[in-house]
Amino acid sequence: MKIIVHRGTHQIGGCSTEIATKTSRIVIDFGSELDGNQSLDVDSVTKGISDCKAVLFTHYHGDHIGLLESINSDIPLFIGELSLDILKLQNARQKIYAEEVIDRIKPYITGKEMIFGDITVTPYMVDHSAFDSHMFLIEAEGKKILHTGDFRAHGFRGKGLLPTLKKYVGEVDVIICEGTTIGRGTIKSLAESELLCKAKTIFDENKYVFIVCASTNVDRIAAFCSAVPRGKYCICDGYQRSILDVVREKSGKYSSLYAFPKILTYSSRLDEKMKNRGFCMFIRPGNYLSDKLLEQYKDMAPLVVYSMWHGYLEQNDSLAKKLSEYRIEELHTSGHADMGIIENVIKAVKPKVVVPIHTNNPERFSFSAHVKVLEDEEEMQI
Ligand SMILES: [Zn+2]
Ligand SMILES: [Zn+2]
Repeated sequence: MKIIVHRGTHQIGGCSTEIATKTSRIVIDFGSELDGNQSLDVDSVTKGISDCKAVLFTHYHGDHIGLLESINSDIPLFIGELSLDILKLQNARQKIYAEEVIDRIKPYITGKEMIFGDITVTPYMVDHSAFDSHMFLIEAEGKKILHTGDFRAHGFRGKGLLPTLKKYVGEVDVIICEGTTIGRGTIKSLAESELLCKAKTIFDENKYVFIVCASTNVDRIAAFCSAVPRGKYCICDGYQRSILDVVREKSGKYSSLYAFPKILTYSSRLDEKMKNRGFCMFIRPGNYLSDKLLEQYKDMAPLVVYSMWHGYLEQNDSLAKKLSEYRIEELHTSGHADMGIIENVIKAVKPKVVVPIHTNNPERFSFSAHVKVLEDEEEMQI
């Protein structure tokens, strides 16, 4: 069996990893780069006669699926069931990808094996800032590979990570492991549950709160929704509501966190009540409704809670300028595992080889004696 990381051995985002036997070939993720290089050519995947059983996406973030339109149209595409629902809603609104390409994507089911020639792939859910993210156990020619995708353990479902590895994955020959935070040393990330507690205090102390948060960061939205104090309104727009509705439909019965009992869709009929009782509202600056309400409350000293990566604010001048006119409180935590968790995952699956991906610092995996730092497009036989 061979592993080729087409991109991502020395960078965060823009990932793509190929796993091939003598007769079958699959690709995991096909993302666009965070800094703008938007193409990746792979023989018989993006050009030439197709020779690839499937492209499997770990989750819907652009740095993992962004280049899906360049994949040959006869290659099957797969993503998690709920991820696909969210991706379709997101794409219907933002028109990021051609509709016919999105329509080609089929859902896979957590824990259910998929067979691609002599390669078996089993997806297992992982906690990440994209809802319904998955790692993959790949089995072929008597060998086992674990591809982690983006993951963390400090979210609401993070405590399932190590038990899942122990129960379903076991020992592997190779782990292909993300290392986004590995250059940041041993700093422990704020847990989503701790963030929820902080949000409660902030929401109690401020009558009018606007929240800037990715519409698809469902766990964060769930944390904020449950932090809204009794008597205060929890508001979003119709688009955000449509995403929460699909999550509620499929996951609400498993956890009250995803039932979103308090959330209301904004309508002008709520204006008076919102003004009287106070509110926490999810917004997307640049959007008509969001900008209108921000302007409307400008003189009433609303608080803007910024709950996204700080670097995005630095890169986005118009957003920074708009928000600079308001009181801002940043409240965010990483979607990626910190170093201690990465070490624990590696310990749990006892790999013979550790291949770092999705990291600027692959050499920092040297805490593991089994690390093998690859170059992009280098072929590794196992
Ligand atoms: Zn990523
Ligand atoms: Zn991601």
